[in-house]
Amino acid sequence: MENYEELLQKNSQYLWNPFTQMKEYLQEEPLIIERGKGVKLIDVRGREYYDGNASVWLNVFGHNRKELNDALSEQLSRIAHSTLLGMSNVPAILLAERLVQITPDRVQKVFFSDSGAEAVEIALKMAFLYWKHRGKPEKHIFLSMQNAYHGDTVGAVSVGGIPTFHHAFDRLLFQTEKVPYPYPYRFSGTEQECVETCLAELQKKLEEKADQIAGLIVEPMVQGASGIIVAPRGYMAEVEKLCRQYDILLLADEVATGFGRTGKMFACEHEAIEPDILTVGKKLTGGYLPVAATLTSDEIYQAFYGDYADQKTFYHGHSYTGNQLGCAVALANLDLFEQEKIIEHVKDTSEQVAQWLKEFYQLSHVGEVRQLGLMIGIELVKEKESKKPYLLEDTIGQRVCNRAKELGLITRPLDSVITFLPALIAAKDELREMLDILYQAIQEVTESE
Ligand SMILES: *Cc1c(COP(=O)(O)O)cnc(C)c1O
Repeated sequence: MENYEELLQKNSQYLWNPFTQMKEYLQEEPLIIERGKGVKLIDVRGREYYDGNASVWLNVFGHNRKELNDALSEQLSRIAHSTLLGMSNVPAILLAERLVQITPDRVQKVFFSDSGAEAVEIALKMAFLYWKHRGKPEKHIFLSMQNAYHGDTVGAVSVGGIPTFHHAFDRLLFQTEKVPYPYPYRFSGTEQECVETCLAELQKKLEEKADQIAGLIVEPMVQGASGIIVAPRGYMAEVEKLCRQYDILLLADEVATGFGRTGKMFACEHEAIEPDILTVGKKLTGGYLPVAATLTSDEIYQAFYGDYADQKTFYHGHSYTGNQLGCAVALANLDLFEQEKIIEHVKDTSEQVAQWLKEFYQLSHVGEVRQLGLMIGIELVKEKESKKPYLLEDTIGQRVCNRAKELGLITRPLDSVITFLPALIAAKDELREMLDILYQAIQEVTESE
């Protein structure tokens, strides 16, 4: 083991971290993780922290989980990787079967990749070519949501809509049409009016140019990275109806919401949504390895199916597509979903968490607490009455998370929203302790100024 001072020096000399302002980050003592155990992370100095955002929304059954470790070593004793280009492998076949079994009925074929952003790129390219192959190449524009997040590659950013992350790239992006996602807290009117306004705008767009639109991509039930915005009940079902009515594809991005996060295996289940294309990633391997997938309807698959000379081959792939280690650990992860009855566990713990979260409204700067399952966002505001927001330069979220870290919990803010997305396996006593830390951190930071 390197000595700590050397590690610190090399860390600042060689690494450039994602979504991190290096200047500010390097002014503080960085956290260097060395081990994980259950819902905790342990740094090189032996300090323990709750992993309050499941290592950015990935972890399901805790770190260093025996069943997952075993599945990896077992697969490793056979082979680590061989290509899926023009050939196959055992864990990829079995994982594809499992995914089709547990996802909404309409999606029947599985195309693997390595990250959520790639799964989205693939979804967009498939939807685009689907219409071309069906003889309607004019349907080439994508509809997406304001404040959406679908990953950081250029195609995924094109359908994204978070100004802080995305505006700087505007001139690099392909054209899309944006419609609003319901955010009742920031809408001047009732929740119902908010939903109706959003749906009316969607319908207007479709009325205008559905004949040019390939599909609508949406984060079903919860917009994650924009601040854990939970859509009011009934909204998604209406969105699906409009897609059917105007004959455009529905692309559901469940990279964040999939695999039990919202209390159902997939968020689409809350309103029996049947997407044409479904993207999954994040928790698929329990937080172990980068595997993602794009699932499509048989109808889309068939549009590409033909003789070589038809020029309908889907020319897209990544070096590690269908990686055996990743697929093997994903299969073991899905086995654990059944053995641990994790969906029922999340239903139970998230109801308890909902009770505890009510206490946060006692805090003078908590504007709204949003929750679906174990996907939780606590929006901080400068003034409760007027809902006056904090400014970016207040760095309120970052300061609260820094304090939480000192108190023993790691999570990240989304601007002035504190996110809480613990590993699904977290027990009630652990959840209570994590919430106590968040409560204290919010109180100390917001009430001290
Ligand atoms: C995280 C996320 C992505 C991107 O996944 P990566 O694996 O980070 O590329 C895409 N869509 C949604 C909804 C996400 O939350």
